[in-house]
Order: sequence, then structure tokens, then C-alpha cells
Amino acid sequence: MLVNGLPPYDPGNVFARILRGEIPCKRVREDAFALAFHDINPQAPVHVLVIPKGAYVSSADFTATASEAEIAGFWRLVGQVAQELGLEAGGYRILSNMGVDAGQEVPHFHVHIFGGRGLGRMVLRAEA
Ligand code: AMP
Repeated sequence: MLVNGLPPYDPGNVFARILRGEIPCKRVREDAFALAFHDINPQAPVHVLVIPKGAYVSSADFTATASEAEIAGFWRLVGQVAQELGLEAGGYRILSNMGVDAGQEVPHFHVHIFGGRGLGRMVLRAEA
């Protein structure tokens, strides 16, 4: 069964394995609600991922079903991480891929934080 176009949560996904400590990550910050760590294949001088500790497939799943405390805690950590990494002066981009059209690869909700250089346009222009 597909939920928001994605299969149900798979506890074997790579971010679930990171949360269980089965595979390592370069941790930036962690609290009761979320974990931030460096992306393994950075697309900018700073490229950090923030994931909730709960089992949510996607942004759609997280926003529809997480508790208010989880949602608030998650976004608070996103802001703290950007501040801690010194991104506020120059600015940064937060991005979350949801589902097929966005090319979501890992089926555990996450946001990317990019910074450290000019980041160009938001998305590729559609083919003419
Ligand atoms: P998305 O396409 O939004 O699902 O992005 C998934 C991101 O996870 C990609 O930027 C990958 O480079 C990153 N990624 C995959 N495996 C790992 C890992 N073990 N540690 C850190 N980042 C990872």
C-alpha cells in the first residue's frame, strides 16, 4: 500500500540504521527529537541532514502524524544547527525531497541544510 505515493516506513532504511547506531555518521547535534549529521555526499561546503528520531517516511507523513512536540523540537534543532555552523550571516537553504518527483532517495523524513557559498536558483528550470 502506498501512503502519499510512498511505501510504508521501512525500518531497514539507512537513516533508521544511523539512529540505531548500526552505521556511523558525522554527528553535528542531537536531542530527544532529532539528529543532525553531515551528508555523506556533500553538494555544498556545508551540507547537513536533520532527521526526526521518530519513524516518518516523508515530509507529508511527518507533518500529518508527528506530535506537536516532535514537530517543534525538530524545527528548533534545524535552526540551532544552522546557527551553530555559522550559516546565519551568509544565509543558507533548507530543502526536503518528498516522493518521486522530488527524487527522495531515503524513505525517512529529512531536511537538507546547504550553505557556505552562493546556492544559485531554487530548482532547475523546466525544459522549454
Ligand atoms: P534525498 O534524495 O533527499 O532522499 O537525500 C538523501 C541524502 O542522504 C543524499 O544527499 C545522500 O548523500 C545522503 N546519504 C545517504 N546515505 C548516507 C549516510 N550513510 N550518511 C550520510 N548521508 C547519507
